[in-house]
Amino acid sequence: MNQIIRCKNCDAIIMKTPFDQYPEYELSPEGSFEDFRMIEKDDFQDFLILHHGHQLENLKIIEDSFVSERAYSEPVKTSFFKATNGKDKFVVKKFREKIDEPLKYQLISGDYSLQCTTIEIQEKEISKQLINEVKPPLSQTQIAAFLKLYRHVAEDIDPKALERVSEESPHPLEIYYKMDDLRLMYLLRNCRNIFKGPQYSAMEEFIYRHKDNGVLLLKATYKIQFTEIAKPEKKRVSVASLMGKEKMVGK
Ligand SMILES: [Zn+2]
Repeated sequence: MNQIIRCKNCDAIIMKTPFDQYPEYELSPEGSFEDFRMIEKDDFQDFLILHHGHQLENLKIIEDSFVSERAYSEPVKTSFFKATNGKDKFVVKKFREKIDEPLKYQLISGDYSLQCTTIEIQEKEISKQLINEVKPPLSQTQIAAFLKLYRHVAEDIDPKALERVSEESPHPLEIYYKMDDLRLMYLLRNCRNIFKGPQYSAMEEFIYRHKDNGVLLLKATYKIQFTEIAKPEKKRVSVASLMGKEKMVGK
């Protein structure tokens, strides 16, 4: 388990990973085997020397607090998470400016929260699966009617009232949710007006097959909302400087 250590005197932090006594091997951007470089990982030792005699404390990462504007797979990016010493809450910026640099961690003043900007149905994926799976095949008009109905079902939905699907989306600001039972019943009831007989049965099966982890999941997109605190800590980077220009951060 990763552990964060904060120096109370300097307001500096370091991530202590179980591997930091070992050198870290990283592939060069060119990717050839001969170009493997070794990065010395005695950062933690350096931190202890630098903060000798200072008061250190452990911070615990607050689960599910991780946010970033870039995909998880993106190596060069800035992300944020929250940590606590049991009493106070801290906002940590995690970043790397170049692909061959180790990750850096920094405490910042201010706070952030996620704000849902849109919630939508996965139209393209649904159409594709309807064409592939439903027998007897649906007409274009029926597919369009189903999409229209499902869009209506998902309208004005509050993601807070929905169950989040635990599978990780490739992007931290895109989260998938299951529709609730009430909306599921409404969807099925209204499908009776569009589909009859064996087609209705096939649609009913389709809905049950896709509602929990398939194309019927609702996709919510979030944005990171940064908030300034009244009296920012002098030593920390102000959250205002983080807005917009990601590249300016940490310089
Ligand atoms: Zn210190």
